[in-house]
Amino acid sequence: MLPQDIKKQYDTSRARAEAEAAQRKHAAYTAMPRLRQIDEEIRQVSFNRGLELIKAENRDQVRRDTAEKLAALYAERARMLSERGMSTDDLLPRYACEKCSDTGYLENGELCPCARLKLAGRKYSSSGISENAGFDRFNENIFKDPEQLKRTRRAAEICAQYAENLEIGGAKGLLLMGETGLGKTFLMDSIGREAIRRGYSVKKYTAYNLIDAALRAVRRHEAGPELTGAELLLLDDLGTEPMIPGVTIETLFAAINERQFSGKATVIATNLTKNELFTQYGERIFSRLFASREYAAITLRGKDLRM
Ligand SMILES: [Zn+2]
Repeated sequence: MLPQDIKKQYDTSRARAEAEAAQRKHAAYTAMPRLRQIDEEIRQVSFNRGLELIKAENRDQVRRDTAEKLAALYAERARMLSERGMSTDDLLPRYACEKCSDTGYLENGELCPCARLKLAGRKYSSSGISENAGFDRFNENIFKDPEQLKRTRRAAEICAQYAENLEIGGAKGLLLMGETGLGKTFLMDSIGREAIRRGYSVKKYTAYNLIDAALRAVRRHEAGPELTGAELLLLDDLGTEPMIPGVTIETLFAAINERQFSGKATVIATNLTKNELFTQYGERIFSRLFASREYAAITLRGKDLRM
C-alpha cells in the first residue's frame, strides 16, 4: 500500500534503530558481563516456565515462583543499568516513530499518521504548497500590531473553516485580498494542506505559472492547462502575471468559470484592490469574483510581516 520508496525509508530507519540498539547492548554487555547473564537467565526462566507448567501439579505455585524470579532478575537488571546512568529503554531500539516502530502501519493495520504525513508531504512538494504552512503553525509572534494579529487570526479561522468542506456560507470560492506580506499565501497554503489532509485533491498555480502554461500550450497548439480536475484549485498572486492579449484574461476567465460551472472549489489570492481587479480584468471576471454566492472575500490589512 505504501509506495516503494517510502517503504524503503521505513526499512532503512528501522534497520538503523535496531542496529544501534544492538550496538548499545553489546557495549553494555562488555561493560557489565553480569547483564548478559541476567538476560540469559530471563530467557531461561521464561522458557522453563512453559515446560514446568505442562508437567506441574501445582501450576499456581509455578506461576508464583517464576514471576518472583523474573521480578528479581528485572529489578537487578534495572539497578545495574541505573548505576551506570542508563535505563532499560536505552537498550531498546529508538524508532523515529513510537506509534508504528518505523513500519508505517499501526497494529490494527491502518496507516500510521507519520506515513500519512509522508504521503501528504510528497503531494505538497509536487503541488507548490509550502510545507511550512498549516493552521497549527500560525505564528502570532511575527505580529507587532495587536489589531492586525486579531484580524489575521479571524481570517485564519475563516480559512480553516473553509478548508473543512471547501465552502463557506454556500460559496465554493474564496478570495484573499491584501497587500504583499500580510500572509495571504500562508493562509492559502494552509487551506491546501488541510484539504490534502482531509483527502481532497489539490492543485496550485501562481497566476504567472498558469498564464505561462497557457501561453506555451497556445504556441504548441496544445490543450491549455487542466483547470477542473482537482477538487480544490489554489491560484496565487493574481495580478503578477503578464497581460498577454488573447491569453491572460481568457485563461483566467475559463479557470474561474469552468470551476464555478462544475461546482469545484477555488481559492484566489491577489495584491490588487477591488478597483484594480475591475480595471485589469474587466466586468466578466470581476462580476464572478464579487458575486457573494460564488466567492467569499477576505481582505487582510496591516503592515508587511516580513519587514
Ligand atoms: Zn509511525
